[in-house]
Amino acid sequence: MKNKKLKLNFELVPDSCWYSNLRSILPEGQWNALRKKAYARAEGKCMICGAMPHRLEAHEQWEYDEKNAVQRLKNIIAVCPACHAVIHIGRTQLKGDIRAAEEHFMKVNGCSYSEYRAALGEANAAHIRRNKVPEWKLDISKLIELI
Ligand SMILES: [Zn+2]
Repeated sequence: MKNKKLKLNFELVPDSCWYSNLRSILPEGQWNALRKKAYARAEGKCMICGAMPHRLEAHEQWEYDEKNAVQRLKNIIAVCPACHAVIHIGRTQLKGDIRAAEEHFMKVNGCSYSEYRAALGEANAAHIRRNKVPEWKLDISKLIELI
């Protein structure tokens, strides 16, 4: 399981980075343009599970370089609401349908409930580790390619 590549995985944002997202830091018009580009690339399909939902949602993918305390933008993708609920499982636990998110995770990844629990444990461990970084530097140089 450790090495199994999950198509759909959790992306827990460190607590101190909650407001360092593109939606908050870019002018609204620019964020909307980026979102629309992602939707156009997706051609109506969720870029993770391939479903064709009513509406797509834009998701910012970040990577966290813990050694250098850098939060780096990787991509902006278009996803279906079901995948988005899994990605932001913390928020879903608070105010979403957690059972539906579990089911969707297992279906998309073709895995068992215990594998779901293991992946969640790993994500939580990374989250705790990353929360110990007092301040993340933001690297959005990738934007140049996305605009
Ligand atoms: Zn999806």
